[in-house]
Amino acid sequence: MSTKYIFITGGVVSGLGKGITASSLGRLLKNRGYKIINQKFDPYINVDPGTMSPYEHGEVFVTDDGAETDLDLGHYERFTDVNLNHNCSISSGKIYQNVINKERRGDYLGKTVQVIPHVTNEIKDNIYSFDGQADIVITELGGTIGDIESLAFVEAIRQVGLEKEPDDVMYIHVTLLPYITGSNEIKSKPTQHSVKELQSFGIKPDILVCRTETEIPIEIREKLALFCNVRPENVIPNLTAENLYAVPLMLEKYGLATAVCKKLKLEKSEPQNKEWENLIENIRNLSGEVNIALVGKYMHLQDSYLSVAESLRHGGFANGVKVNVGFIDSETITEKNVKDILGKYDGILVPGGFGNRGIEGKITAIKYARENNIPFLGICLGMQMAVVEFCRNVLKIQDANSAEFSTTTKNPVIHIMETQKVVTEKGGTMRLGSYPCVIKKDTLAYEIYVEENINERHRHRFEYNNDYKERLENAGLICSGTSPDGNLVEIVEYRNHPFFIAGQFHPEFKSRPDRPAPLFKALIKAAKESK
Ligand code: GLN
Repeated sequence: MSTKYIFITGGVVSGLGKGITASSLGRLLKNRGYKIINQKFDPYINVDPGTMSPYEHGEVFVTDDGAETDLDLGHYERFTDVNLNHNCSISSGKIYQNVINKERRGDYLGKTVQVIPHVTNEIKDNIYSFDGQADIVITELGGTIGDIESLAFVEAIRQVGLEKEPDDVMYIHVTLLPYITGSNEIKSKPTQHSVKELQSFGIKPDILVCRTETEIPIEIREKLALFCNVRPENVIPNLTAENLYAVPLMLEKYGLATAVCKKLKLEKSEPQNKEWENLIENIRNLSGEVNIALVGKYMHLQDSYLSVAESLRHGGFANGVKVNVGFIDSETITEKNVKDILGKYDGILVPGGFGNRGIEGKITAIKYARENNIPFLGICLGMQMAVVEFCRNVLKIQDANSAEFSTTTKNPVIHIMETQKVVTEKGGTMRLGSYPCVIKKDTLAYEIYVEENINERHRHRFEYNNDYKERLENAGLICSGTSPDGNLVEIVEYRNHPFFIAGQFHPEFKSRPDRPAPLFKALIKAAKESK
């Protein structure tokens, strides 16, 4: 079959769960036996979100092939269990960078380089890069229709509709139906305006997915259909689900995937949703609670730790417990108050991060976990700080630090990687993506992974300094995982503790609701048992 294209745009306001809709649709089509791939377009000029603050944009999600991508790719991977790649997250910056590079190379020699056709062609090349690789490409356009920044993307997706067969392309518009208390009405006008705007760019939506707090009354559905030029059965309500992972089944119930199959003439239209139904049933039946403190610094925007928080919940699903995540700002933690703040938690997690702010609070939290036998998981910066803490408080190396935070310390127990010393540009130059790690037998890491050879995703510039390895290991902080050549330390664990482990990589990027990352599953198990 020829590759089919589904484009998802958003209207009225942002934050309507477009990413979850795209992810859910991906799952529902995969469950019908199709090979799907999700793609995200972001209109900003950064080449990728790697150079943005998590405060601005939330988490940076890392793919196996080392792309720093929009956090929606995390949703896509968690819902569809399809590993994505650098072609799946495309910003205006990346498009313009390619176009300008081509111009300088002389690829367009003699031509005036313009938005149409050069920029739009570049966008379409990215869409068509999946031709033959996937049955269905689901492309989500970030932002809201009418944004100046996204016009080139809107034009490009319009052109796809013209270039491909009518049965191979469709458009889904995700909008909001506001509910007015007092008059007790659902309002259709904002959606009508948004669709009008979309149509002014030459795109006619085939399906409306309407974010709403209540069922859509039949008369509103008919009105929307009439005014927005869609079939009434293609007005799909998107209600607040009992949990995130219940959204695909809710949208299935309201006929989203059925409408898609009909429009794209997809023959395999019978869903095989049993496994997903089992997952939701499992989530419904969780009993008991585990409280985990996530000690980080980007606390005003919880999306900064999206994959970590989701992975903790996945760990809960596997252990039959609900996980409550306490978002703790490490800047508020001191030696004096650490017990008051962290004492009520069953486990402590220190995630990845960059920069000096809040570092001492993280070290204090790690010390508290280590000394009080509280299950602890450190991720990337969390591992580096576990090493610093151990050096300072057990080996009594008072000025132990990471070279990221002190250029003058005599004891850079975490230092810049050899390969990073020559790096001058910040964007896309960290150690990124999937790397192998070899796990030593008879360790907690081996007990957790039950495998000697694993692969995990990375995003860092600094690493464990092997000059301190012997002393650290002799004192009990052993290296249970390294790169295959043994040079890079990937996992450390503390022997004299029920559960104290940290990885230089980011296990959260590979966690799935029905297949939690082993370290998270083990942390929740340890936290549950410690209660
Ligand atoms: N800032 C640290 C480094 O660059 C840790 C990065 C991270 O936690 N992702 O090595």
